[in-house]
Amino acid sequence: MLVYVERNELYYDLENLIAIFVQKSQLSFLTDERAFEEAVLRGEEGLKLLQTPKQFTAIFFKEGDAVDNFQIALSGEASLTPEMKRAIKKRLYQFLESHYTPKSKWGILVGIRPVKIVHELLDRGLTPEAIRKQLSDDYLIQNEKIELMMAIAARERPHLFPVDSDKLSLYICIPFCPTRCLYCSFPSNDVRKKGGLMTPYVAKLIEEIRATANYVADSGKTVDCIYIGGGTPTALNAMQLSQLLRAVSESFDLTKVIEFTVEAGRPDTVDLEKLLIMKQFGVDRVCVNPQTMNDATLVKIGRLHKASAINEMMELVRQVGFKVVNMDLIMGLPDEAVTDAVRTVEAILTMAPENVTLHTLAVKRASRLNEHLEAVELAHDDDVANMMAMADQMLRTSGLTPYYMYRQKKMIGHLENVGYAAAGCESLYNMRIMEERHTIIALGAGAVSKICHPDENRFERVANFKGVEDYLNRFDEILAKKAHAFSELTMQTK
Ligand code: SF4
Repeated sequence: MLVYVERNELYYDLENLIAIFVQKSQLSFLTDERAFEEAVLRGEEGLKLLQTPKQFTAIFFKEGDAVDNFQIALSGEASLTPEMKRAIKKRLYQFLESHYTPKSKWGILVGIRPVKIVHELLDRGLTPEAIRKQLSDDYLIQNEKIELMMAIAARERPHLFPVDSDKLSLYICIPFCPTRCLYCSFPSNDVRKKGGLMTPYVAKLIEEIRATANYVADSGKTVDCIYIGGGTPTALNAMQLSQLLRAVSESFDLTKVIEFTVEAGRPDTVDLEKLLIMKQFGVDRVCVNPQTMNDATLVKIGRLHKASAINEMMELVRQVGFKVVNMDLIMGLPDEAVTDAVRTVEAILTMAPENVTLHTLAVKRASRLNEHLEAVELAHDDDVANMMAMADQMLRTSGLTPYYMYRQKKMIGHLENVGYAAAGCESLYNMRIMEERHTIIALGAGAVSKICHPDENRFERVANFKGVEDYLNRFDEILAKKAHAFSELTMQTK
């Protein structure tokens, strides 16, 4: 289908909304109105979207004719209110629904944090029933997804509210991995090429940790949650890991920290020595991320280990003894069928993780997968939906139920990522990062702090440089930005 849509403030939303009905590969967005008109006159199917300050118009063309259309009157103001944007999207959704079948159960919602809406409505005093009705009427979300959102919001609320502005989370990024996974879009560095930067990186990161600890102390706030991610933090050697964790434990009062996570994502980076170092410095939550337990797929996604290495690593993790283990899985990896996904879930459940995060494969722009799409057989939308449904059932039967979720751009089947946890084993950090009510101070290359201003109902992003080289060379600029962010946080306290 051809689409002519003038570039405006709704462009991105409209593009995503249309993709719910027609696969992106079969969509062409034209910016030349004349070329569009000539093509539809030749018989191509087309959708024309026009917007003036006073009116939004959609016209659908088929076999050379304009066969359907609608108009919505606008206020005449220069920019659209959120209500007006929603009205346009809803009307366009219903219009497209009369010509195509939607491939998503999320209605007009294309944002990545659906549960935030539920929290906002609960804050405004709406009853659960009124919220369900609003999600159905205003966003056209189907019941299955509404119930997922409601259940997650109910489970998150005691952990997130009332917001305690005196508490901060700390995120520390280690942007190195042993190889680059096929689907990865993070600015992570391959140890085989950039491993030489790890020692200077850890040294600078320790400087940032110590400086941040001083800012935290001056602000009068307390760090109560620490998450070391990446990348793969355990790509550091034992000495570097030990130096890093020692700096954290010397800089912050770990007796006030209620959750301390390290992503030990890949078994080829982990040994008993590193796990004992993590335990020694107070880490209580570890992420072991197989993504799949299928050896053939592990090769295809660029992993250097077999599935059996996950079992061996989990034996070590259990032997050392951490409170919670999370395992990440991806549904819809290349050439995997529903039976492969079921086998993977069965295999990880034998290791009894307290958390499992089920991801749907997303084809990210910056990934190798996106560059080599023609060489890969992606799973069909319906198969991935089946994988998610079967995995959901198996996890629930094992006592793991949804506690946080998010969506991403370009996910197969317009699905979602869902974190499951046994009762009492929810990750505070995961809930805080998703719902954006809490300040997270991020350290390291590519890390983005989120400074919340609860009185003004907004948060500010403060980004460090993405590249490790920039992080090392322009470190003073990073510290200056952090100092400024903390001066605002300190004002909140006073
Ligand atoms: S382990 Fe994670 S960060 Fe590292 S390459 Fe794979 S997806 Fe990217």
